[in-house]
Amino acid sequence: MCGICAYKTKENAVKLAVESLKILEYRGYDSCGISLFKNGKIETIKSLVDIEDLRKKTESISSHLAIGHTRWATHGGVTLKNAHPHLSSSNKIALVHNGIIENYKTLKENLNCAFQSETDSEVLVNLIEKEGGSLIEKVISASKKVEGTFAIAVIENDELVVGKRESPLYVAFCESGVVATSDISAFVGNVKEFYILNDDEFACLNENKIEFFNKNGEKIKKNAEILPKITQNFKIFDKTHMESEIKETKIVLKNTLKEYLNSDILTNLNLPKKIKEIDLIACGTAYHSALMGAEFFKEQGINSHAYVASEFRYGKEILSKNTLYIFVSQSGETADTIACAKLLKEKKMHLLALTNTPNCVLNRVCDNVLPTFAGKEFAVASTKAYCCQVFVLYLFSLFLAQNLQDNIEELIKFTNDFQVQDFDRALLDKIYHYKKIFFVGREKDYITALEASLKLKEISYINSIAISAGELKHGTLALVDESTLIIAISTEENVREKLFSNLEEIRARGGEVILVSNFKSGGFTKVSLSSMCENLMPIVSIIPLQFFALRMCEKLGYNPDKPKNLAKSVTVE
Ligand code: GLU
Repeated sequence: MCGICAYKTKENAVKLAVESLKILEYRGYDSCGISLFKNGKIETIKSLVDIEDLRKKTESISSHLAIGHTRWATHGGVTLKNAHPHLSSSNKIALVHNGIIENYKTLKENLNCAFQSETDSEVLVNLIEKEGGSLIEKVISASKKVEGTFAIAVIENDELVVGKRESPLYVAFCESGVVATSDISAFVGNVKEFYILNDDEFACLNENKIEFFNKNGEKIKKNAEILPKITQNFKIFDKTHMESEIKETKIVLKNTLKEYLNSDILTNLNLPKKIKEIDLIACGTAYHSALMGAEFFKEQGINSHAYVASEFRYGKEILSKNTLYIFVSQSGETADTIACAKLLKEKKMHLLALTNTPNCVLNRVCDNVLPTFAGKEFAVASTKAYCCQVFVLYLFSLFLAQNLQDNIEELIKFTNDFQVQDFDRALLDKIYHYKKIFFVGREKDYITALEASLKLKEISYINSIAISAGELKHGTLALVDESTLIIAISTEENVREKLFSNLEEIRARGGEVILVSNFKSGGFTKVSLSSMCENLMPIVSIIPLQFFALRMCEKLGYNPDKPKNLAKSVTVE
């Protein structure tokens, strides 16, 4: 899930690379580094601190050629030796890599050279060195021996070559030369158009020339795409990205509704004539919005299931042409979700991508796209994008059931009245010491419990589970005692009484209960929610719970924007 970049420019490429890495930092922040070519040799600077530290270390260095990396470690611990760029054993070639070389052990055994790191990436740079021919020829022939995924930038002398398989990579001309990055938002230097590299495509980058090659080493032509404007005019600035982005939810929901009501996004979709079922496939937080979406579709009379992508891709699901498959991903780059989409594309199924990133891989794989207009999400823990995913899935369920027109007024009222609600600080002071926290709910509130628990784990590292309230008495209740905090979500009228009975069972075992609800408290400590459109209550109830995770994280002294072992887009399997 690392981020890579490369610049060959008339101005200082090192400075541009640092700027790009700053934007790519969301992809991983275990370490970062830059290699540059100067006075006939490669120089490499690395940091285990952060991009700002790398900036300081490189401030006085300039070069017209630089490659950069920000790492989310997959192979080898977080050490300077394992930080990229990696050099070949002769120090003549430097490489940055995003992905996993699955057969690195076998390759390593056959390469007769000394290795400095434990990474799979160092094997690749040495493999490249052992091949014959020009740099582009060496890279292409090495790629044929590699199993797994890669986006790479490689330098040797004054040459720069990039290539990719499965991991994302984009190239472009900038004002003073050429650039390659893992994410189009990380292009620095006035880029207007860019090229998308497809799998097993490679490019030789020169200041005023880009040559593209296929896996057979043949030159290919590619068309440039216009760089989309990433609208950031609703940005709220707070002390962390996560806080800003939760607070932006109101603006982005309004924005999303406006975009859907004032455009043909829905009517232009090319959908199967008769949709008998909708299957949603996603990972992590997006899986929770997929679960929510399945509930919305069922409420509108369409059979629907949500699947975890990493299970679906190896599972035995029965496919159907009457099913619409929806792939949900904020970044549109999630490796497992993309793999499922490609699998179903081969089988000619109907696919739809629900993403927050224009031009992302998932959008290109699927026949149809439903965008969320949440704006760029920087915080690793998704918040505003999750709310927009849930919102769009609700809009889409109404559209499919031809109920959208009748609900427009209610949707507008919802986005007007919706308020972002922080978690009560006085209450937080009373409960922040808990080390065991269960989230419970029933029906859609159970899905909110899953998402609230994930948010807490992601940034506070507190042991937490989410469980459907009715399931508690089938075993898990045994874990409830005075050391357990139970946060119960209750916005579903039809199961309200049932949930309260479950909460009494918890109370009887000494657990402390906090109720997050728009209903009467029933004698429990309550976080009060405003009553709004019942179907959209999951958006109302998740906000104080996102804040709960954030405030717990802050109390414990962690940085919510850099959670451990997590990166924003999970581009490895
Ligand atoms: N496998 C490489 C490493 O661990 C790159 C990781 C990645 O792209 O996530 O250094």
